[in-house]
Amino acid sequence: MAKKDYYEVLGVSKSVTAEELKKAYRKLAIKYHPDKNPGDKEAEDKFKEIAEAYGVLSDPDKKAKYDRFGHEGLGAGGFGGAGGVNMEDIFSQFGDIFGDGSPFGSFFGGGRSSGGSRRAVRKGSDLRIKLKLNLEEIANGVEKKIKVKRYVSCKSCSGNGSKHGNSLQTCGTCNGSGQIRRVQQTMLGQMVTTNTCHVCNGEGKVVLDRCEVCFGEGRVLEEDMITIKIPAGVAEGMQLSMSGKGNVPSRGGVAGDLLIQIEEEEHLQLKRDGNNLIYDLPLNFVDAVLGREVEIPVVTGKVKIHIKAGTQAGEVLRLKGKGLKDLNGYGTGDQLIYVNIYTPKTVSSEEKAILEKLRESPNFQPKAGSDNKSIFDKMKDFFH
Ligand SMILES: [Zn+2]
Ligand SMILES: [Zn+2]
Repeated sequence: MAKKDYYEVLGVSKSVTAEELKKAYRKLAIKYHPDKNPGDKEAEDKFKEIAEAYGVLSDPDKKAKYDRFGHEGLGAGGFGGAGGVNMEDIFSQFGDIFGDGSPFGSFFGGGRSSGGSRRAVRKGSDLRIKLKLNLEEIANGVEKKIKVKRYVSCKSCSGNGSKHGNSLQTCGTCNGSGQIRRVQQTMLGQMVTTNTCHVCNGEGKVVLDRCEVCFGEGRVLEEDMITIKIPAGVAEGMQLSMSGKGNVPSRGGVAGDLLIQIEEEEHLQLKRDGNNLIYDLPLNFVDAVLGREVEIPVVTGKVKIHIKAGTQAGEVLRLKGKGLKDLNGYGTGDQLIYVNIYTPKTVSSEEKAILEKLRESPNFQPKAGSDNKSIFDKMKDFFH
């Protein structure tokens, strides 16, 4: 599945102002918020999608890259630098955009600070990569070794971020709540805004003696060699996921997933139609009349096939089981050979003389009947 256009996702134009963007995001975020749509996976995906779009478009640097290069310009994932989008990121984003003072406080207030279920599951962000495969790899399945930059647990501190074992302390700036409330007097009365604590990043705890390797993060960015097993029969746009091969969250937790999007390299001679492969066979008409053995490409190399004498233009020959294996194990497709009679554009005077003779010969007069089905019947035979 190709990524949707971020502007489209938020329903705004390219000339959107920061204020309009925020408004559009807020409206959609409320509609699709998981608290409002419990257990609705579609709403959650939509929610992540709009959060990702907003994350990019609200950042001038990322927006500029996206405007110039599209999703490619943002690198793997496109959100949050290291890729993927996770709920923690989204809720920290909410902390900035919706405070307790907003009318939406009931939905978003305390998304983090209330502790609860969301913080209990600390899962790192997913990583997304694209993987280009040729037809042969798709036909046989393949094992690919791929370098992926991902956050892994820091070995020096075993992932807790502290130099001497676990010495997490309550954050003094936010007193452990992870949020900073600011009370302002305005013309309309008291206004309370809540922001994510910048000292502890909303976690409520800080590491005092930071590990020198990961600077207290508990994780380090590393280039990891990952072996990906691709089953036979995958297709363009499919997404495979390897659980636990995404990013580890800071200071302990479960790693996110590695999401692999399949891209198909076009084969020069074989076109794919589901699990079938189609080959266009140019045949000279003498061979069609007299029959002949010809060599044709198949996904595993070449095979010789026999063209019967009297083969018609537009006839479709079938090599059973020479297509692609079904991904879900429902058999194997066929290779279809479309007979395409080649007509020379120039002939010598000698050739012309022969052909002139054939032109009048009784066998060369077109006859209606079972030997010469109409193109429509040939197609019908084939597809029904
Ligand atoms: Zn460390
Ligand atoms: Zn804090």
